[in-house]
Amino acid sequence: MFSINNFVGALILASFFLPGLNHLGRSKKTHKGARQSSLLEQESGTYLKKWTGRLPIALIYPNKYGVGVSSLGFQLVYSLLNTPDNIVCERFFVPEDNQSSLRSFESGRPLEEFSLLFYSISFEHDYVNIARLLLAGGVPLFAEDRRDDLLTAGNPLVIGGGVATFMNPEPLAPFTDLFLLGEAEGILPALLPLLSETLNTLTRSQLLLRIQKEIAGAYVPGLYKPVYDDVTNRLIDSVPVVSGIPVRIAKVTVPSVARAAHSQLLSPAAEFSNLYVTELGRGCSRGCRFCAAGFIYRPPRLWDADAVIKGVEERGDDVRRIGLLGMEMAAQEELESLSSYLLESGCSLSFSSLRADRISGPLLKLLGSSGLKSVAIAPDGASERLRMVINKNLSEEDILTAAERLAEVGLYKLKLYLMIGLPTETYDDLQEMLELIKKVRQRMLPIGKARGRLCEITLSVNCFTPKPWTPFQFHPFGGEDIPDHSVGSAAFAIKSLKAKIDFLKKGLKKEPNVRMNHDKPENVLFQAVLSRGDRRLAKVLAIMARDFKPWKQAMRKAELLPEFFAIYRHKENDYFPWHCVDHSIEQSFLWHEYQKSFKAKMTVACDTSICRRCGVCGD
Ligand code: SF4
Repeated sequence: MFSINNFVGALILASFFLPGLNHLGRSKKTHKGARQSSLLEQESGTYLKKWTGRLPIALIYPNKYGVGVSSLGFQLVYSLLNTPDNIVCERFFVPEDNQSSLRSFESGRPLEEFSLLFYSISFEHDYVNIARLLLAGGVPLFAEDRRDDLLTAGNPLVIGGGVATFMNPEPLAPFTDLFLLGEAEGILPALLPLLSETLNTLTRSQLLLRIQKEIAGAYVPGLYKPVYDDVTNRLIDSVPVVSGIPVRIAKVTVPSVARAAHSQLLSPAAEFSNLYVTELGRGCSRGCRFCAAGFIYRPPRLWDADAVIKGVEERGDDVRRIGLLGMEMAAQEELESLSSYLLESGCSLSFSSLRADRISGPLLKLLGSSGLKSVAIAPDGASERLRMVINKNLSEEDILTAAERLAEVGLYKLKLYLMIGLPTETYDDLQEMLELIKKVRQRMLPIGKARGRLCEITLSVNCFTPKPWTPFQFHPFGGEDIPDHSVGSAAFAIKSLKAKIDFLKKGLKKEPNVRMNHDKPENVLFQAVLSRGDRRLAKVLAIMARDFKPWKQAMRKAELLPEFFAIYRHKENDYFPWHCVDHSIEQSFLWHEYQKSFKAKMTVACDTSICRRCGVCGD
């Protein structure tokens, strides 16, 4: 499945508010809009199946088509659901405009005609869209309000999956009958036959209990009761309400693949128009301490070169633009041999971000011949010290050399990703980033001049959000230094992040050909709330979806404080909402990594053949 920092996800900046959904009609008379029809016509790889004799499944992506079709994970699930001949799976996206009603992408049917609704979600900012789409499709928003009867069109089962759900499913738990925690290839082949066999004979609760007992990775949140501390009001446990079901749900991981996952659909409306994407592996061995993808996809797996080539070879004869996922983790030799293969096959390479210490040899040659003009690298931490705090292992010289080499092969537009609000960050660190940008410019400038080209640098600044399952899960959002088990101030966090953004802006103001963009700390605060939140937040999402309230008002109405979830410093043995999922990562390891970060001590990358330190790899 797909990762938070994946190839496409890293560049998707989906709109947080999607006004079209606020006015979404439920008219059965309106068919899919003209825009939806034209997107379908331009897409290749679509499954168009007749309905007669088949079980219909709706697959929902809670954002617009262009975002959903860019997700390799969503495409993979679409293909897996359509593989059995007795199933017809059609997609739903947030409608393209205010006038369109919610209709399936393929045949234009309303959501009410499906008895099984799957959704796949990657980002916290799309949570509210799940609520809005269910309401627009006439589905009772809370699972407890759905009829305990046979599952039929009009009384559907709501099944959630995607990376956000196996990071922390709890904020969406009250809307969801069943979560599938882990990689779809490892779960769907067992689940789909069970659904087909029992749909007409078992009631909702009977079916859910059977799935919970029999299917690996299944999590029926209604079978687990949260326990809150009487004094602190914090979640302290989640207990099964029936016997014979696991206390925690082990995430499902596939150990290897015969053919690497690859694009099933090509569309000019995707973030990278008509780009054919193939996975090099899953996860990342680097262990950057802020990065959820680096932990929840453990163990890191690099696919065999044969499997990758097979994945690339599935492209159509006329497809030449290839994107590779997982380049951060791939060994230098593998990248080089794959680059040689792509060069010989007349292909060009695209990517969202490269590791600055991996750019050389045939890869550089391939990049040069690919006609690309822009490239992104992600220092993430503002200074060399901070990059040790976050375990990024990227020196200033790595970044400067990469910028120079990339400019030499014609990539004159460089984007640098930076996070602010990281643990221990000071203005000295930010000053070092300003100096680094000047140095990058000085190195690139003469190369561009010699070729008669301007070099452009963009600094892309994002606020750091503490993510579940990472060493920084214990840390408060916003960078305020608060004591253990205490709550900080949202106003302070926002003010401090804004001041850092202003400092960087001011520092770059006079630098020619250097631009800066940044996210909004207020919006990121809500992402941080959802990221570390529990089931009580579903009420906030419901208010936002039903009453069209902004998140702050909705939280007030639900009598919940953002600080309680986002700006709180946890301790080593705290219970977290995401402990319902078992990733096999030991909390003591995460705590140890968190403590190491304060001493700016690095941890070496995973070597799954010998390493046993985090608890994921077996004997
Ligand atoms: S046990 Fe070691 S190699 Fe395996 S995932 Fe954990 S840190 Fe990586």
